[in-house]
Amino acid sequence: MKSKDFFALLNNISTLPIHVIDATIPISQYIAINVSENNIDLNTFNVSSSLAWQEYIDRYLQKHHKKIAFGGYLEQRNIYKRSTYFNQENNEEERNIHLGVDLWVAAGTKILTPLDATVHSFKNNTHYGDYGPTIILKHIINEEEFFTLYGHLSVASIQGLKVGQYFKAGECIATLGDASVNGDYAPHLHFQIIKDLENNVGDYPGVCSKKNLDRFKINCPDPNTLLKLNY
Ligand SMILES: [Zn+2]
Repeated sequence: MKSKDFFALLNNISTLPIHVIDATIPISQYIAINVSENNIDLNTFNVSSSLAWQEYIDRYLQKHHKKIAFGGYLEQRNIYKRSTYFNQENNEEERNIHLGVDLWVAAGTKILTPLDATVHSFKNNTHYGDYGPTIILKHIINEEEFFTLYGHLSVASIQGLKVGQYFKAGECIATLGDASVNGDYAPHLHFQIIKDLENNVGDYPGVCSKKNLDRFKINCPDPNTLLKLNY
């Protein structure tokens, strides 16, 4: 399927916003946030500290009287510099461009599948700065197969889960993890759409280098094409 057609398929699933976070929190309580290297506010605290991040996100939400901050697709970010996991090779290969959407909300919050799904795989990705507990769901729409990835979950979310397990759209699949299990971040869901998993199991790159961006952005389109959180 051509990338243009996959984009249209995702876009046509719903005209209304779709919840991947506890649906009792209305979309009116969401606000966009920029955590790219262009946000100068990020120079005012230690971005390597999950606690300092938490305070920054909390202040941002309080200031705007909102409950969920979201954004980040294709943002170029500095935060990944803290972990060698993203920068094992030379600088040209630095992985710092974000391929999903992040939704910043309290640990323990329910995570929902946006579509009917079966569990493709799950894994605890424990590198410093990695996803921690992660679930990948498989969806089939109009006979097209694609995947959604949920990162930074609680450990309980992957205990007792089974490959092939079915979830109906809107069902709770997990809860959000805290900094002690989620790769050491302020609590947030990393949600990513993936067309071709390329044989990955329970994991898939959530950031890429500039060099590989063209390939990755075709395989991982903007999650907001499906979720429509900007409306
Ligand atoms: Zn993310």
